[in-house]
Amino acid sequence: MNFPPPLPHDPNALPVAQARELIQAYLAPVRGTEILPLKQALGRVLAEDVASPLDVPGYDNSAMDGYGVRFADLAEAPVRLRVVGTARAGRPFAGTAGPGECVRVMTGAVIPAGVDTVIMQEHVSRDGDHISVEPGHRRGQNLRRAGEDIPRGSVALARGRLLRPAELGLLASLGTQEIPVRRRPRVAFFSTGDELRPAGTPLGPGQIHDSNRYSLYGMLARLGVEPLDLGLLPDDPHQLRQAFAEAAAMADAVIASGGVSVGEADFVRDILAGLGEVVFWKIAMKPGRPLAYGKLGAAHFFGLPGNPVSAMVTFYQFVRDALLALMGCDPVPALPVLQAVCVEDLRKAPGRTEFQRGILAPDPQGRWVVRPTGAQGSGMLSSMSQANCFIILPQEQGNVAAGAPVAVQLLEGLV
Ligand code: AMP
Ligand code: MG
Repeated sequence: MNFPPPLPHDPNALPVAQARELIQAYLAPVRGTEILPLKQALGRVLAEDVASPLDVPGYDNSAMDGYGVRFADLAEAPVRLRVVGTARAGRPFAGTAGPGECVRVMTGAVIPAGVDTVIMQEHVSRDGDHISVEPGHRRGQNLRRAGEDIPRGSVALARGRLLRPAELGLLASLGTQEIPVRRRPRVAFFSTGDELRPAGTPLGPGQIHDSNRYSLYGMLARLGVEPLDLGLLPDDPHQLRQAFAEAAAMADAVIASGGVSVGEADFVRDILAGLGEVVFWKIAMKPGRPLAYGKLGAAHFFGLPGNPVSAMVTFYQFVRDALLALMGCDPVPALPVLQAVCVEDLRKAPGRTEFQRGILAPDPQGRWVVRPTGAQGSGMLSSMSQANCFIILPQEQGNVAAGAPVAVQLLEGLV
């Protein structure tokens, strides 16, 4: 195995930023591409540069409904010009505008021969087949030039781009029907814990429903990987070892939740160490301190904490970027972090980066402010459900007083 040299770190309290760097050092995009029809490529990653086979737009055209004129005619403005024809989008004017003449032009129409400037229809007065034009125009105004959006031969989209609605439209504007994209990484995931029962089955004493597989499924599906649900596993080393090995054989990445907290940690760590390599174990963050990353053969392994909020926070903070890198995103689009005034006091002890669940909303003055969702227990999924952002409190930060600015990371629009 070709591991990069390990960074110096304390595996029992790794800072968040260092953990991210460490994971990225291990990641390379999955091999394998496929050609997809444009619509099916939504959410995929472009596997090759796309050079434009044509100029977009393909010809000089009008940006406005108005009149195409010869700028030289305006030297003596105000002037009267004779309207000699009409050019519409898709229906060019066949003639030429001579001195003293102009052409009615609609948005998107080919600029007629002789014309070099377009005047908005609101800026002229028309009288029969003549218009009057006041002074104050600029040569070339209201024209869209051939190739001004995308010149022929230029790289319209670079390899590594995540294909969003704008990219689909842009590719269609080049006439593209099919597009080479990377295959979707296969991501196997399972939950571990003797207390867990699948949704839809009754609970015995001390049992709870397995929720992590559902939130994980949702996050994986939104990200655009291929989720493989491997179900529930008891806290049994033999069954876990076998499941880890099987998952690693079928997937590019394996995600387990539960079984990584103190007491159980050595258990999963030993299995992982036996089958591959453990890269780190505990992160200086809250929630989500126990987090394992490693390799299971060729597959990347993420051991997320079992607490449902911790599992989601660690996914968004580490696994998201890692999977986008596996998908081939280059660069991996960063999640926007903004400043907002926090309108409540926050309790925070220095030493760990905290990701509190927050609600960002406009106040009556229209200024966006943030407040915590209330109880922040790492088992309380309702806090994740109410939240629309994380309030990120840096490692060495202490308590925050109401009115202070804090960093917020939006949950909406996470890809
Ligand atoms: P663990 O990380 O296994 O020590 O679990 C920490 C807490 O999360 C315990 O209260 C578990 O019962 C709970 N938990 C673990 N896995 C899940 C799951 N898949 N769904 C809901 N709760 C879980
Ligand atoms: Mg457990």
